[in-house]
Amino acid sequence: MRENGILQILENSRYTVVLTGAGMMLESGYPLLRDGEESYEIENKYGYSYEEIFSSGFYAARKELFFQLYKDVMLRTVQNTPPGPGYACLKKLQDYGKIQSVVTRRIAGLERRAGCTNVVEMKGSILDNVCPNCGRQYSIEYITAAKGVPLCEQCLVAIRPQVCLFGEMINNALMTRAAEEVSRAEALIVLGASLHSPLCSQLLQYYTGTNLVLVTDSEHYSDQQADEIVYGRCDDFLKRIVNEYESRTNR
Ligand SMILES: [Zn+2]
Repeated sequence: MRENGILQILENSRYTVVLTGAGMMLESGYPLLRDGEESYEIENKYGYSYEEIFSSGFYAARKELFFQLYKDVMLRTVQNTPPGPGYACLKKLQDYGKIQSVVTRRIAGLERRAGCTNVVEMKGSILDNVCPNCGRQYSIEYITAAKGVPLCEQCLVAIRPQVCLFGEMINNALMTRAAEEVSRAEALIVLGASLHSPLCSQLLQYYTGTNLVLVTDSEHYSDQQADEIVYGRCDDFLKRIVNEYESRTNR
């Protein structure tokens, strides 16, 4: 049984890092705004693509439209859509000491919302919104309730989502942290991303172990780099691992 083997990998590994990709997010019901149906809807409604609007250029010069998309599409999804069962399983595996850290390029903050700790959000998270002038943090509720561009109450300057916008480089400190986590890993589990995705292309070079596990629902030639491949949904896989672990340890 494959899950037995993978659980054994987790049992033997002293430091296990998980990389979560778009597949995990899709399973939670989060749309991919860059392609598919959602991208057409955005272009139709706003007259520009998601990538154009959610960019440093639009944040600098066209804040009204930037925040319209940010509030109506992105933050609304966060408010209406909780992290799915896959993230709950990640949190359990962390609690059981089977996973030590989670690294992602996704900005929806699903890992943190599920209660995971030691999460490296390489491109930041839309859960974090800060006044660039005084550093005060603002809640999602504050931003969605604001009319037009949300301003800092004290400074009256526009609040800034703490994310890497299109047109910006990934923060160096976050990139370094992610690379450090991966280089420490004895086992590395990639969930819902192919090995040629930007997430893996940026990080796999730092992995020196021999237990690279890939869970994905679509085949790709790069899959063969993995030591173990599981085709299917990530949440199903994680549930099986959690169940297997719980039955072994009588939890
Ligand atoms: Zn301020």
